[in-house]
Amino acid sequence: MEYTRTKEEVKAYVDEIWPQIVKDIGRLVSIDSVENLEQAEEGAPFGPGPAAALEVGEAMAKRLGLHARNDNGYIVVADLPGRSSKQIAVLAHLDVVPGGEGWTGDPFRLERKEGYLLGRGVLDDKGPAVLSLYAAHYFAEREKAGDGTLPYTLRILLGANEETGFGDIAYYNKKYDPPEFLFTPDGWWPLCVGEKGIATATVTSPKIEDGNVVDFFAGRAHNVIPFTATCIVRCDLQNLPEVRGIDIIDDGDGLVRLFARGVGGHAATPEHTKNPIGMLVNYLIEQDLLSDSEKLFFTFEKALLDAYDGSGLCIDRTDDLFDPLTCIGGAIHKKDGQFVQLLDIRFPKSITGAELTDLLHAAGHKYGLAVKVNIEDEAYWIEEDAPEIQALLEVYNDYTHQNRKPFTMGGGTYARHFPHAVSYGLEDEHLELPKWVGAIHTANEGVSEQHLKDSLVIYILAIERLMQLDW
Ligand SMILES: [Zn+2]
Repeated sequence: MEYTRTKEEVKAYVDEIWPQIVKDIGRLVSIDSVENLEQAEEGAPFGPGPAAALEVGEAMAKRLGLHARNDNGYIVVADLPGRSSKQIAVLAHLDVVPGGEGWTGDPFRLERKEGYLLGRGVLDDKGPAVLSLYAAHYFAEREKAGDGTLPYTLRILLGANEETGFGDIAYYNKKYDPPEFLFTPDGWWPLCVGEKGIATATVTSPKIEDGNVVDFFAGRAHNVIPFTATCIVRCDLQNLPEVRGIDIIDDGDGLVRLFARGVGGHAATPEHTKNPIGMLVNYLIEQDLLSDSEKLFFTFEKALLDAYDGSGLCIDRTDDLFDPLTCIGGAIHKKDGQFVQLLDIRFPKSITGAELTDLLHAAGHKYGLAVKVNIEDEAYWIEEDAPEIQALLEVYNDYTHQNRKPFTMGGGTYARHFPHAVSYGLEDEHLELPKWVGAIHTANEGVSEQHLKDSLVIYILAIERLMQLDW
């Protein structure tokens, strides 16, 4: 098979079939496929929503000429068999995050407006999932038209647990051999060649008997910098100076409530955040509101929160491939006289999970705190000059007339769960969106139809190139 199809031929296919694609995206968006483990059962391990989405995905794949099966409600495996049983795979997911507040319409009804599609999952990742099925359909149609069988099997995988536990992939990897190469359309253009390691930690203070800080709470998760934080302190209200961003409220009985408004965000991208826990910690220290027994814990907090590069805990690292390590304070609370702070750390390849664990234990020891570390993933990366990486990049740059380079990131995608995989599109931070179009995981999640069309053309051309490599 030659790389002979022109962009124009592929574009014509995409234009012609576009109305069907929009309909199919709409079918999937209308299923609330948020994980619901309380209603999990045999054949629906992530709850009825993800299972229903897989059923629709399976039917769609069959209708589009693929050999598809829904494997027990974990994942849809849809093949276009090649001359070789070696596989080139594309993996997207049909589960979504909850609809949430702030939508102008119904998050689970596809809205088509001024060239944009709006609805939960249009971008993450139901839209891309449908594109991957139609990319395979293109090759199925060509085979029917007499163009011959693909040299390798094209396998489209539709997962159902990307947003929460990756249980779909754990299941898949136990049962099936990995493909020769896989890309997931669940990242950003052009191509991500590395994902930082991910660690979480829980830091617990000793029981504090005679403290002034009666309570302290913010956030709920390891991996989210909270937007607000509250602490309740036993102190004299009269002496407290006003500070920007902190409300000082008389709680009665000699107690003062301090409420801080920061700028929250995700642990993988802390660049523009301002942690409200840190604002309160600095206030408590500067106003000398802490008892001696509390000082050590709050000195640790200051070391943790004054910078997000981990330097305060001596874990700051950089290397030639990744952005510097990040370390953020997520949720904090006080329970049974003990403060509990959750941490999220994204680390580059210059440090291993084991080294990081040792350093965090050492930091805890220094301040007399108990530290429990959980290494979720080591750093993952793939050599940039590999022919498949160059092929994917070339197709993208050629089609878009750009000269973009691969990148690395702090977030995790499906890619790191396979020996040989990358994320390839289709979000694009360079696109300017109308104000009423939201990002993934937010209200009014949306994407332009033209962007989806272009992405599908790129996927088809890319698969064609991958099929010409020697696997
Ligand atoms: Zn996703």
